[in-house]
Amino acid sequence: MSLDRATIWPYDERGEPREFYYSRYGSPTVAEAERRLGELDGGGALLFASGAGATTALVLSLLKPGDTIALAAGCYYGTSVTFRALERWGLRFVEFDQTGPPPADVQLVWLEAPSNPFLTMPDLAAAVAHPAPVVVDATAATPVFLRPLEHGADFVLHSATKYLAGHDDALLGAVVCREDGAAAELRVFRGRTGINAAPDPAWLLLRGLKTLEVRVRRQAETAAVLAERLREHPKPKLVRYPGLGGLISFDVANEQAARRVETSTRLIVNATSLGGVTSVMESRRRWEGDRVPPGLLRLSVGLEDADALWADLAQALERA
Ligand code: PLP
Repeated sequence: MSLDRATIWPYDERGEPREFYYSRYGSPTVAEAERRLGELDGGGALLFASGAGATTALVLSLLKPGDTIALAAGCYYGTSVTFRALERWGLRFVEFDQTGPPPADVQLVWLEAPSNPFLTMPDLAAAVAHPAPVVVDATAATPVFLRPLEHGADFVLHSATKYLAGHDDALLGAVVCREDGAAAELRVFRGRTGINAAPDPAWLLLRGLKTLEVRVRRQAETAAVLAERLREHPKPKLVRYPGLGGLISFDVANEQAARRVETSTRLIVNATSLGGVTSVMESRRRWEGDRVPPGLLRLSVGLEDADALWADLAQALERA
């Protein structure tokens, strides 16, 4: 697929718009990336400017002032920040333990699989039994390890910035809808509000999707090795790794120890984000404050050699 950066395309010979006419309403490169992602997740996919943009578009299109979202506690911090920013428009949210059923009297259920950075898995069966629509943010699992629509979820959300694009060079979000009608409504809403994806990151997503499965399977294999060695090591107090991808979190003694460890790695980059081919690790305390244990480190395992990664982690843990 070639990259088409046009914003306009000519009408047909009768003067009628063709499939693509103005890029806010759709463009070929974005549409092709949506088709591929839709196949992977088994639904109708729509791309947005970022994961947070996808979150905003989805809740604004589904909900109205006074509605409440049941949000998985301990899921991606930024999602609660987005919902808080929308509170003055009358949107409310309550947090709940996603390993059990969502509370009654909510109009949307928002889960994360596995949650970032606590790595809990939602009880999908309990959630889909709830009358409200269910969204699963499956950024960390990717469709390779989990296809939430097959479990009865209504929407899948992805920060495609992460594993799907996979190379830390494209900011992009996606919503995948189980029902065609819901996808069509969201498409109209996206065109009207302009929370669009640009063709360049969509092209990078298309390229990333070609290697998605081999990347994430290798990342998961390496993560399993590292999680086991972290569990055997005396310094980490708690290691969280549920499988289903390349994300690990573990706790060292305190915030200062976490800071020393994250700044002592050489191969593993001390940076935020996750899901790229390069391993990154950071203390989440700097962003999330009291919401996380003081010594929590989040490690996104890349494609480097497992022994080399372990050697780097082990020497950094000396400073814990
Ligand atoms: N969902 C999860 C699980 C994330 O980790 C992130 C970003 O870190 C987002 C959503 C938001 O995505 P973006 O940064 O692409 O806006």
